[in-house]
Amino acid sequence: MKVTSTTRVLTLLGDPVAHSASPELQNAAFAAAGVDGVYVAVRCAPDDLVGFMRGLARAGGGGNVTLPHKEKAASILDIRSEAVRRTGACNTFWGDDEGRVHGDNTDVEGFRRALETFLEGPTAGIRVLLLGAGGAARAALAALVADGAGEILLYNRSQERARAVSRRIGGPKVRVVPIARELEGEDFDLVVNATRLGLAPGDPSPVDFRKLNRAGAAMDLVYGRHTTGFVQAAEAAGIRATDGMDMLIQQGAVSFERWWGHVAPVEAMREAVAERQTG
Ligand code: NDP
Repeated sequence: MKVTSTTRVLTLLGDPVAHSASPELQNAAFAAAGVDGVYVAVRCAPDDLVGFMRGLARAGGGGNVTLPHKEKAASILDIRSEAVRRTGACNTFWGDDEGRVHGDNTDVEGFRRALETFLEGPTAGIRVLLLGAGGAARAALAALVADGAGEILLYNRSQERARAVSRRIGGPKVRVVPIARELEGEDFDLVVNATRLGLAPGDPSPVDFRKLNRAGAAMDLVYGRHTTGFVQAAEAAGIRATDGMDMLIQQGAVSFERWWGHVAPVEAMREAVAERQTG
């Protein structure tokens, strides 16, 4: 794709951004779909976020927002999607003809799509252990609650943060577990890791699967070039497991849909990520 004076600029705004797979993912998608856009990662300080977002959106561009700016981004928007309102976080923004900044949190739909593929069955009624209380956990919780999970136990290192998340997104089906020992002997259809544990090769699993009575499946939101500790521990216990790569692709696909108004070339995105993994 030739970059010209009419090319739309889409950015990833965050700090750090150097590790991100989004530029490869989105530029491969733009090329496969034949759209006139270019995607770049920009390291951005908190005070610069509002200028970047407003300026880019008014210029017909947009982008993604990542750590540590997702909450601040939500406060900058003029028009918020239901997912932004529910989670208080924004990871995708774009402009309209009247200069307004729109935003969505595509981690919610990305998690939902990845989970649907992984589970090969409905989310409704399942019993889930969700580990973590940061942005990723909020997106997963919003999707699980909306899709009718039967019961969700939320466990986080800092209990107070889990309680705050549960107050915002929870409901009668969500229960905060204060200490890990209370998970011993429990049965789950699904265990989700939404902590940062696993980002570094050698990080341990945030849960000891041997202490649970049963875990039907294990989904990590963390991804990397290595197999995460969570996936390793699940597989060692004979549990079907996946990492966060499919969610990354799916949230990117939903962002693409918001910017371009049509379905994303998911296979091209998958190939770009696979190439990056082996490259
Ligand atoms: P946050 O910084 O918002 O939250 C981090 C979470 O990890 C908190 O719950 C924190 O607990 C927990 N945590 C950190 N260190 C430890 C530790 N040593 N032991 C136990 N728990 C720990 O991050 P995000 O929620 O935004 O991201 C979490 C992970 O999800 C990241 O690895 C990120 O890359 C991934 N992610 C993947 C996506 C995908 O598309 N696959 C999308 C979004 C995120 P505490 O509150 O106690 O500090």
